[in-house]
Amino acid sequence: MGSGSSSEAPKETQSAPVTARTTPKQPKRNRQFEEVQIAGQGGSRSRPPARSTGASPNPHQSSSTSKNPRGTDPGASGSTSDRTKQQNTPRQGAAANGRKKDDDIVFETFYHRSGKEFQCIYQSGMRFYLDDWGSKEWQPFPKRWYNEGLLVTNTILKDENAEQNNRNEQAAGASGQGQSSRSQGRSQGQGGGGGGDDREGFLMHPTKGRIPTYIFYKKHNVHMYFDRDTGSWVRMPIGWELHHNMVKSLVDQVEEAVPTWGDRHDILALLRACNYDPDECISIYLHLERDEWMKGPKTSKENKVLMEKEARVLELEKRVKHLETQLQKEISCREDAERNLELQETKFSELEAESKDTEAQLSAVTGGRPPTARPFSRMVKPGQKGAKGAVVGAAMKGGLSTVQSEETVNPDDVIDLNANAKELRKAHTRVKMDVERFMGDMKHMLEKIGPAFKQMKQSEKGTLNEIEEVRALYRKEALQRKLLYNQLQELRGNIRVFCRVRKDDRAENCLKYPSDQDLIATSQGQKKMFNFDKVFEPSSTQEAVFEDTKPIITSCADGYNVCLLAYGQTGSGKTFTMMGPESNPGINIRAMKELFQVCSERKETMTYKLTVSLVEIYNETIQDLLTSDAKTLELRTAGNKVQIPGLIETEIKNLDDVRKVMAMGDKNRSVASTKMNSTSSRSHLVLMLAVEGHDKVTSAITRGTLVLCDLAGSERISKTEAEGQRLVEAAAINKSLSALGQVFSALRSSQLHVPYRNSKLTQILQPSLGGDAKACLFVNVSPDAYNFSETVSTLTFGSNARQVALGQAKQNISKGKG
Ligand code: ADP
Ligand code: MG
Repeated sequence: MGSGSSSEAPKETQSAPVTARTTPKQPKRNRQFEEVQIAGQGGSRSRPPARSTGASPNPHQSSSTSKNPRGTDPGASGSTSDRTKQQNTPRQGAAANGRKKDDDIVFETFYHRSGKEFQCIYQSGMRFYLDDWGSKEWQPFPKRWYNEGLLVTNTILKDENAEQNNRNEQAAGASGQGQSSRSQGRSQGQGGGGGGDDREGFLMHPTKGRIPTYIFYKKHNVHMYFDRDTGSWVRMPIGWELHHNMVKSLVDQVEEAVPTWGDRHDILALLRACNYDPDECISIYLHLERDEWMKGPKTSKENKVLMEKEARVLELEKRVKHLETQLQKEISCREDAERNLELQETKFSELEAESKDTEAQLSAVTGGRPPTARPFSRMVKPGQKGAKGAVVGAAMKGGLSTVQSEETVNPDDVIDLNANAKELRKAHTRVKMDVERFMGDMKHMLEKIGPAFKQMKQSEKGTLNEIEEVRALYRKEALQRKLLYNQLQELRGNIRVFCRVRKDDRAENCLKYPSDQDLIATSQGQKKMFNFDKVFEPSSTQEAVFEDTKPIITSCADGYNVCLLAYGQTGSGKTFTMMGPESNPGINIRAMKELFQVCSERKETMTYKLTVSLVEIYNETIQDLLTSDAKTLELRTAGNKVQIPGLIETEIKNLDDVRKVMAMGDKNRSVASTKMNSTSSRSHLVLMLAVEGHDKVTSAITRGTLVLCDLAGSERISKTEAEGQRLVEAAAINKSLSALGQVFSALRSSQLHVPYRNSKLTQILQPSLGGDAKACLFVNVSPDAYNFSETVSTLTFGSNARQVALGQAKQNISKGKG
């Protein structure tokens, strides 16, 4: 890192997150964001960022600091809390000043100008630092360091009262925030999750519903420019950055890959979020490409118009609904009327029939009359057209009186009829009253049922809310577990390098093991020392070796990509470490066993599906080993997603399945190698285990891949061998292994471009090496002095890869004197 003497030194961009805190030009929200990042750095992610400090509200202060970007502040007294007070934003200042007590433990990070970073704690006037580079113990903070770097407060562990106060304040803040975002309207409803962790939140997506969100802490590149007016580094606006050659080419790259995007500002914004990784940027966009929500309004004015439109649409929808219900009512009214009409008609026809009967009776009564005196109505059906029909109709409508006027009627019959009619009328009134009463009862019942129904609905809603709350809690817990685990792994380094020395009793030993992390190689007066995350001596068992990789395998079940690689010369024990003999299996069988174990432990809440595929990379061609038809496969990349169309993926449910798959792979590999006249040591064997988890509670799906790679022998071929097929093989191996080395080195130095595309091997490994992925590299060496130079070259490769370990970049190799 820079010496801190010149703020114009381009190197300083690397330390941007630190320098940025002192930049006056930042909008307030960004500042808050950075404070969140600092909080994360201390490893106490769950603490609210409001307690962290570092933003400078004072331009003068910032410019003075910026002249000394590493933050060397000669005026600093021994107390960070003074500095804390100066640098606090008003609200945070109140929080820190008002409540910080002597008993509080303040977690800090000290950025030494040498580039080293130390975790510190400050309590009761004493400050200690964790001597991660030496004794690995807490040491008193040296006074002279106040002039040699910058202390940044991360988190304050408060006593319970203060904690409660703070929670209250946050709750008030959160509800205020909620209101303001509500008042901003727009149904996108982004919000904080409450409950103290303001990194948590959610989005209300129009089709996907409630989507939980989280502000993750990531180490990030921040592009800045040097502002001569203020003499400080300032964040670059997107508009400016688009004119920057290198950034422009990145945007071009994304634009070319996704021509439908068509918004360079938007591309750059996502590129920034992806730490300027175009592949990740492309992947993210492709994942959501068809989502309408992606094309949000550009300005608040547009937003307003859209909101108005949405409100109008909503209103119209309401009206349509209203009209629809009205229409429905009309329809049911009409149906009622039709039914009524039908009823009337049947009644009418009944009356008609009755009247016919009456007529018949009448005619019976007047039976003695000559046939000529009979009315026409007997021969003509009612409703029949014609002059006579009309008369009959009229006669019938006129009722009995018309007939009576024409005929002589028996008075007894009339009395009978009258009585009948009366009875009928009475019955009708009774029925009518009954119906009315029944309707009244119905109405009453409905009125009673209404509130009960409402209550039922409410309680149902309450239960749903409860379930949702429990779900949210569970989600939070699961997320926290994952994050903590991830953090732990990150602290250990995302690429861990283990060295395993093979057992070789006959050989003349050239290796010494001063500790379980150090290894010294000596031969003919040469002495080289290497440092790894762990050194496994020849006596180490397969169990012991696996024990140290076990933790990262668990993260595969949490949806992280995990990669285990074995690197070394032929005969150094790569296959033994990865595969091992059947009686004493290596990492891969144990890893799968462990995964089955993890899956069964979580079966209450999760269901897992494990699929396995096995490929061999020989001379830059990929061969599927789970099929005997020896077809080669192509690789397709879209962003940082790698697809191998046609690759056979076999589901495995238990260790027996695993053994079967392995046996099949072995058989096909030997067939293929005989065909190509190659030996297994000349090709890379890649086993890919996809772990898809389905959370039964939240329905979330996690996808993690465990890649186990037994690399081809790393030895250089001798000149005598360098011809024909052997030369082609050697070239391919050299190409892929050096590509792997380049990828490690690009990751190590946080380069913007990681050259994954340089070989098939690195392409396949891309998802398991970059980003959140965790890799574990085994460098396998032989203790034989005869192999000294190969051993040193392997150990050097491992040491270089080890420096990728984030945040803990250390110089691993030191040349000892002979
Ligand atoms: P590589 O795959 O690197 O070419 P192998 O794994 O095939 O090397 O190992 C070569 C030989 O050494 C094998 O016979 C293997 O059983 C043996 N071997 C390797 N490492 C060990 C070890 N740690 N303990 C016992 N035998 C080992
Ligand atoms: Mg091997």
